[in-house]
Amino acid sequence: MDFFKPLETSVSQSPKTQPVDSEKVKCLIIGSGPAGYTAAIYAARANLSPVLYEGLQPGGQLTTTNDVENFPGYPEGITGPEMMADLRKQAERFGADIRFGLVTEADFSGSEHKVLLDGGKELVAESVIIATGATAKYLGIESETKYAGSGVSACATCDGFFYRGKDVAVVGGGDTACEESIYLAGLCNKVYLIVRKNFLRASKVMQERVLKTPNIEVLFEHNTLELQGDGVVEKAILIKRKGEQDESIVEIAIDGFFLAIGHTPNSTPFKPYVNTDEQGYIVTEAPTSKTNVPGVFACGDVMDPIYRQAITAAGSGCKAAIDAERYLAERKI
Ligand code: NDP
Repeated sequence: MDFFKPLETSVSQSPKTQPVDSEKVKCLIIGSGPAGYTAAIYAARANLSPVLYEGLQPGGQLTTTNDVENFPGYPEGITGPEMMADLRKQAERFGADIRFGLVTEADFSGSEHKVLLDGGKELVAESVIIATGATAKYLGIESETKYAGSGVSACATCDGFFYRGKDVAVVGGGDTACEESIYLAGLCNKVYLIVRKNFLRASKVMQERVLKTPNIEVLFEHNTLELQGDGVVEKAILIKRKGEQDESIVEIAIDGFFLAIGHTPNSTPFKPYVNTDEQGYIVTEAPTSKTNVPGVFACGDVMDPIYRQAITAAGSGCKAAIDAERYLAERKI
């Protein structure tokens, strides 16, 4: 679900590729999850004539979720794809120009910001809102893809509720894995925490909470080989490895398999200009959406390593559009 093709980051001051065509826009929004669409709704209503490029996965990460039950305003819940289609329609209703295209390079060295699309077209924008999201990391085993949405999830807060009273597994040894295990332990019968090393990388306080929770069983030095089931996940086949001479195969019966091995923010094309933290998340000037580049704003999961919820992304998209509107108004004075 990457919005961008991976690129070598460099500090060159202009796009490496020569554009085939160029277009000027007042407000360019890159990315189409809840952050991008909400920014488009606000920017369109503020007469900024926003142009939004959807990226490789229109609608973003939520289009891979089944039901969304924690977004306020949907008492009966809604599917991820439906919610994204509604947000898109709402943005279009106010005149947002939504297009398919992938940003491959950016040049934020001048007062006007240049962005290059995969087809070779250049956009010259007075303001840019980066809403490119983050991509959950997967183990890379075939059965993960086979059971996506049928027992495999990368978001316990989004999908945990569907596993009430059941047995599930979480993979990872960091704070996210511990937090998600504790959250799931409150809903599920049993949680297996699958950790590849013989220790947890998570903070001490999280480790203690996990170890004190009676229905979490930590499986240290275990790796997942594959998931099996009849249409939905029914069991995980693990390998327990203490050393080359000490390996055994372990089977656990589970209904849900949650990945919590980290996320990759989709910030690569902007890194030569926009400050990011050591994990690649875009750094913004809290509480605003301003980046270190005047006129370039960031919202949603690409700048949020902590909350990563549809509602927080939507809220930050609103902030980015308001920040862009104020920036453009000040430039005119
Ligand atoms: P981390 O990168 O901290 O941890 C990833 C975990 O996944 C590690 O235990 C790693 O194992 C494991 N892992 C990675 N790849 C694989 C693989 N292929 N197979 C099995 N296991 C794998 O990511 P988090 O998302 O947990 O945290 C990201 C950041 O966000 C951290 O700085 C964290 O502290 C912070 N955070 C803070 C929270 C809070 O304060 N409430 C909540 C959540 C996150 P290994 O250890 O062997 O490398």
